Formats: sequence, structure tokens, C-alpha cells
Amino acid sequence: MVLPVTPAASADTPIARAAQAAVVARSGGDAWPRPSSCRVLTIANQKGGVGKTTTAVNLAAALAMHGSRVLVVDLDPQGNASTALDVDHRSGVPSVYDVLVEERPLSAVIRPVEGFTHLYCAPASIDLAGAEIELVPMVARESRLARSLAGYDASNIDYIFIDCPPSLGLLTVNALVAAPEVLIPIQCEYYALEGLEQLLRTIDLVRSHLNPGLSVTTILLTMYDSRTRLASQVADEVRDHFGSVVLRSVIPRSVRVSEAPSYGQPVMTYDAGSSGALAYLAAAKELAGRNAQMPAST
Ligand code: ADP
Ligand code: MG
Repeated sequence: MVLPVTPAASADTPIARAAQAAVVARSGGDAWPRPSSCRVLTIANQKGGVGKTTTAVNLAAALAMHGSRVLVVDLDPQGNASTALDVDHRSGVPSVYDVLVEERPLSAVIRPVEGFTHLYCAPASIDLAGAEIELVPMVARESRLARSLAGYDASNIDYIFIDCPPSLGLLTVNALVAAPEVLIPIQCEYYALEGLEQLLRTIDLVRSHLNPGLSVTTILLTMYDSRTRLASQVADEVRDHFGSVVLRSVIPRSVRVSEAPSYGQPVMTYDAGSSGALAYLAAAKELAGRNAQMPAST
């Protein structure tokens, strides 16, 4: 599609911003170090609205814009990550549902994300809502995603991010069994730490029974509001408790971040110069900087 360029199209109009962002996304930035083998990170927190999807989509986009090849696996029946990446996820399209329930190869449902050279998405359709129940009587019901990933040739992929639903049900357990790394986004607000214990207990259980290599490698503080003392108190508490696992970069609360999905874009391209995009860029760079320390995934 050719967009008409009129003198009125200043950088402040949505079209001009999108055009500008698209140029950045296509040309890419400087190349960051890539891991020696594919890193698989599950993005989990059973609380809804803490920034799991936003984090999955924007870390993936930032890494892809800097030379990495990245796959986002959408494991939430709501399909928010698929929406944010503008990947079709209407009921019936090949999706993660087919992978988990019908044992379709992962490669058969992966779609390229438009505007990026090496960003891919395995979409979630609403059919996945039924999988939580359909999986119950199945053999190795907790390991179906892990098996699918084991059969997927990830030699051309540097990072896989698995975006979890807001629960600790079978879908999230599948994600925890499938990845060596867990990334927990924590929202900087009062109830942030409530429920974290339950998540950590679930991770421990999965580690002892199903995935001995599992560890929480990354915590990201999200929706930080620098105007409130509470936000800095929560951030301090998380850092005291979890130490160096917590990324130094903190994601601020930013309107641009919340607008981006309705344009089918990560904030990284929707408004690359916004505070939210710059923070995700810094967080992604930190994540890439930790490549050498990470255990090689299988
Ligand atoms: P989750 O996947 O954990 O449910 P989301 O990533 O969908 O959380 O975020 C919840 C809501 O908050 C979404 O509407 C999203 O656009 C918005 N949001 C996420 N991060 C930010 C941020 N840093 N600033 C403002 N809004 C945000
Ligand atoms: Mg989500």
C-alpha cells in the first residue's frame, strides 16, 4: 500500500509516526550480541494486567530490531500478543491450540510479523480457552508444549518468548515445563508482591517434578510511576529480595505503551522515541548482555 505523503503529514500525525517507525524497524539498529543457542523465556505472572504481553511483544521487537531472530509464542487464549503484532488469530486459523491439542508442528502455525525482518509469532486463538480443559485427560498434558519445542528446529532463532495467560493452570504449566528461563514482570504497585509466592511455589514444583533446569533468570519492573513513593518502595523491596535477577531498566507507565496495541504494533515501532519504547530498548539490551551467562537451552 502506498500512503499519500502530504505536506500536512508532520511527524506528529499517526501516519507519519508509523512511517518513521517502519523505517527504523526495517533498517534496524546496531547489532547486539546473540546467544550461542536459542534462549527460551516464559513470561509468567498469574496476575492479569501486570505487563506480561507488553513485555513479550516489546522485548521481542527490540531484539529483532537489533539483529536477533525472535519468536513470540502466544499462550493466552485472549490472543493479546497476536493482536499487538497484528497476526491473524481468529477462531479456526492455525494456532497454538493446534500445536497443543492436535499435535501440529509448531512450524506450521508460525507467522512472520509484518514490518520486521526476523520477528515471528505463533498466534493464540480463542480455541485455546478450551485447551485448558481438553488437555486434562491427555498423556503428558504438562509437557505438550515442551515436546513441540523439542521437535522444532530453533537453530535459526535466537529467542523464544512464551506469553502466558493470567492463571497458573495447565497452559502456564506447559510454558514453565517448556523453558529453562522464567521472566516475571512485576507491576510497581501495592499488591504487586501478593501472589508472587504462589508463582514461585509453582515454579519450584515444576522444577522438582518436570523441568529440573528451570530458573527465574529475569525480573522486570513495569508500569513504574515516578510520581509516587509507593512505586519506588515496591521497586526497592523487589531488588532487596531478588538482587541481580532484577533488570536495572524499569518500564515507566506511559500512554504510548497502552495505545500501541490498538495500532497492531509494539510501542517500539509505534513511537520509538517514547519513554516506554526507550525503556524496553534498554531492558532488551540488558537481556542480550546476559547471553553469555545463560545455560544453553536444548
Ligand atoms: P498482562 O499481559 O500481564 O495481562 P498487559 O501487557 O496486557 O498485561 O498490560 C495490561 C494493560 O496495561 C494493557 O492495556 C497495556 O497496554 C497496559 N500497559 C502495559 N504496560 C504499560 C505501561 N508501561 N504503561 C502504560 N500502560 C501499560
Ligand atoms: Mg497478557
